Amino acid sequence: MKKKITKALENVFLNKRNIMESGIVKKIDVFQEEIRIYITLSNPTMHMKKKLEQKIYQTIKYQNVDKKIRIEMKLDTHEKRKTGIKNIIAIASGKGGVGKSTIATNIAVSLVKMGYHVGLLDADIYGPSIPLMFNLEENKISSCIVHKNGTSIMNPITSYGVKILSLGFFSKSGQAIVWRGPMATKALRQFIHETDWGVLDFLIVDLPPGTGDIHLSLVQEIPLKGIVIVSTPQKISLSDVHRSVGMFRLKSIYVPILGIIENMSVFIPKESKEKYYLFGKNGVKNFSKKMNIFFLGEIPMLQDIQVSSDLGIPVVLQNDDIRKIFLKITKNMIDHLPNVPIY
Ligand code: ADP
Repeated sequence: MKKKITKALENVFLNKRNIMESGIVKKIDVFQEEIRIYITLSNPTMHMKKKLEQKIYQTIKYQNVDKKIRIEMKLDTHEKRKTGIKNIIAIASGKGGVGKSTIATNIAVSLVKMGYHVGLLDADIYGPSIPLMFNLEENKISSCIVHKNGTSIMNPITSYGVKILSLGFFSKSGQAIVWRGPMATKALRQFIHETDWGVLDFLIVDLPPGTGDIHLSLVQEIPLKGIVIVSTPQKISLSDVHRSVGMFRLKSIYVPILGIIENMSVFIPKESKEKYYLFGKNGVKNFSKKMNIFFLGEIPMLQDIQVSSDLGIPVVLQNDDIRKIFLKITKNMIDHLPNVPIY
């Protein structure tokens, strides 16, 4: 019986490794009426625990086991709690207004839904819009900075499960702040190195559009795991993306491009089956083939997306169809990352 259970548990995967192989199953006891499975996890989220339990129950049920299954899950106190940020991913675009911040927001929330610990750093010096997309007031500076033993550190603000810091917290709505290169770089350095992010599986960085100083200093300053590029399908948007790709592929600053997303790919009016390719058809898909970049997926142009952005509620929390699209894109992104954390 124990062998049968062990074999069954080899079909249960957590972050791409089967739970027998990864060693989180510490013991299996078979009693007359009950099977007890002892699992030790470091730093699990509630969502992840529940999902794992469900998977185990289901897998064993398929084996026609007529005993009660009890799962004992505990936190590993011997294993040191992992700290720090495991994967920093930047979202970039050639032009402004193509939906980069919308996509950064919804990828961050999708990652939370998948059970990861997630941060979002809004580094768009030209128009930090993350506070609006999460319905956070701008000018949150007072709640962000915490003084401890004579030094000050930053504290992100959590919304919809995402820990957020934005350049927008440092200006009042409507106030013009010109983040010049060195000033912005200094602020971003603080955001990364002097901020209490806690344990993060992913830190998503919403970059400013284009190829400026800030991109270069960010790439030198922080260990990016990869870049995700967002573009709309028309030529005029793609020509700027071409420049961005060139920059990230420069030998001196090389960062892997995890893939490209086509936003506003098609418009389908409500109660209609007609598709309108307002910005051309398959522009980004064709570009990705030409440039040898992985195509992560496409997002249609939908009023719900725009309305959600303005309301400050991420659209993945409001619309099932769009949630599925974003979850698929987020999974594709993770698949292109080496070493996704294992609990
Ligand atoms: P960027 O960060 O590239 O400047 P934003 O994410 O701020 O762009 O998006 C610009 C505007 O376009 C926002 O009002 C947003 O709600 C809207 N938008 C983005 N993607 C879509 C989409 N797929 N469908 C409809 N509106 C969208």
